[in-house]
Amino acid sequence: MGVPPSVLWGRQRRSLRVDGTTIHDPDWLQVDYALLVLLDEYEAGLCICGEPVESHKGKTANDYGGAYLTCPAMEALDLEQSNRARSDGNKEAKPDPSRARAWFVKPIEILRAMAEAATTPQPEPLYQQPPTTPSGVAD
Ligand SMILES: [Zn+2]
Repeated sequence: MGVPPSVLWGRQRRSLRVDGTTIHDPDWLQVDYALLVLLDEYEAGLCICGEPVESHKGKTANDYGGAYLTCPAMEALDLEQSNRARSDGNKEAKPDPSRARAWFVKPIEILRAMAEAATTPQPEPLYQQPPTTPSGVAD
């Protein structure tokens, strides 16, 4: 059945010696069962988009927008994979930027705020890390 939440959060099982017999705390406490019931109820109220179904009341598709973030690590992986496929003989292989995109949907006002924040200059950091050379890499 997995790890009880209380153990996951650090509960140490206790043992008690009674009349020469060792008695242990149960793995699963009532609070663990109660937490799973609450989690189940919470998840049952979620829409396929991950937001609570209640949050969609009175809204239409026009109230939402889709956007994506491009992951530079996944871009590098995609490039490496297409390079490898070409060297393996697949002359048609080429990078596909869509494989590095993580799509999400948000209320339109949140997307607008995200777009504005992305184009607003950010203040200079008060302290900048000095450049470092990774160990084992020659200069
Ligand atoms: Zn939804």
